[in-house]
Amino acid sequence: MAIDALLTHCRLADGRLVDIGIADGKIASIGDPAPSLSNSMPTLDIGGDLVLPGLVDGHMHLDKTLMGLPWMGHAAGPTRMSRIETDKKILPNLPVSTEERAGNLIRDCVARGTAHLRTHVDIDLESRLNKLDGVLAARERHRGQASLQIVAFPQSGVMRCPGVLDLLDQAVREGADLVGGIDPLEIDRDPKGQLDGIFAIAAKHGVGLDIHLHEPGEMGLFDVHEICARTKALGLDGKVTISHGFCLGQVTERQAKAAAELMAEAGVSLVTHGAGGLMMPPIEMLREAGVLVFAGNDDIRDTWSPYGTGDLLERASIIGWKGDFRRDDQVETAFDLISAAGARALGVVDYGIAVGGPATLFTIAASGIPEAVAAHPTRKLVLFDGRIVARDGAALPEPAAIA
Ligand SMILES: [Zn+2]
Repeated sequence: MAIDALLTHCRLADGRLVDIGIADGKIASIGDPAPSLSNSMPTLDIGGDLVLPGLVDGHMHLDKTLMGLPWMGHAAGPTRMSRIETDKKILPNLPVSTEERAGNLIRDCVARGTAHLRTHVDIDLESRLNKLDGVLAARERHRGQASLQIVAFPQSGVMRCPGVLDLLDQAVREGADLVGGIDPLEIDRDPKGQLDGIFAIAAKHGVGLDIHLHEPGEMGLFDVHEICARTKALGLDGKVTISHGFCLGQVTERQAKAAAELMAEAGVSLVTHGAGGLMMPPIEMLREAGVLVFAGNDDIRDTWSPYGTGDLLERASIIGWKGDFRRDDQVETAFDLISAAGARALGVVDYGIAVGGPATLFTIAASGIPEAVAAHPTRKLVLFDGRIVARDGAALPEPAAIA
């Protein structure tokens, strides 16, 4: 394959210093540094900086962000239900559309080296599919900068809001990639109704599910069991995610281990954001049991939280700090959550820095992965499918060829 651009003096995660050749948006060669360039091929000297694959944000809420607006103080009360109701007052009346706000946040993530995102989008009786329409438009506009999966998310509940199941079905027909769910016991007080309903939609359309589970202790554990049972019964191994799963950090170690074994056997993954007032699930135990655990930023400067920038390396450092991950191999586990593990969960093919895979990567001044996570300095160069999408911490208005 004829190489059409070259990145020289790239440091790989294993410490090797190489040149990376790019052709047709893919990595065509990884080799020894060239002593001198033989032709006028477009070349960028990476100067020995670390090259890592584009990051994977496995859980976010693009429709709720306030990015692009002047600072707005947090308006909701301290409960989840207050945040749900406050959203219905604030979000429809903002001066910037869902599409624009979602686009602002996508570009902020791209500027920090994120290439693949999974966002939940609220589907409820008040806003119906309006937010989905906005996020679908933002996805289309940023197709050359990042890939985006959309979960049709019944934020206000399912069984307590008759009509939402039909809207979720419609959302999948209109372009949502997965069906969402939320606290079947705590919000709906009808776990069988909600789970049977959302699993039926997923099975009918052949899509996966990603279910928010904030429920504490034994209550949450009950729903973990119910989700695993349905995943097995419907043959949805590898297509179902539990978001948060705080309960796994709150029950006894024996109960958590049993739940982990059940999740691993059923092929149910877990996505965590690490923060929040509740306990983080035991990430290392879950991974040892064979559960696919990945991570995302969740709320980023939005109606639910004033915090966050979209930086996944910073998120990995928060998770590592909360999980007491101190050794290099543990920090590398935190990195795996926002890279290879996330890619497996989202079904990103050919992930990583390898010949034949997409030239979707970023460069950063760090000696290796542990330093990149701990210090998370500015991403210098970000490529998506071989084109430059961000430089020096800022997204480009349009993807540009390496010149
Ligand atoms: Zn969420």
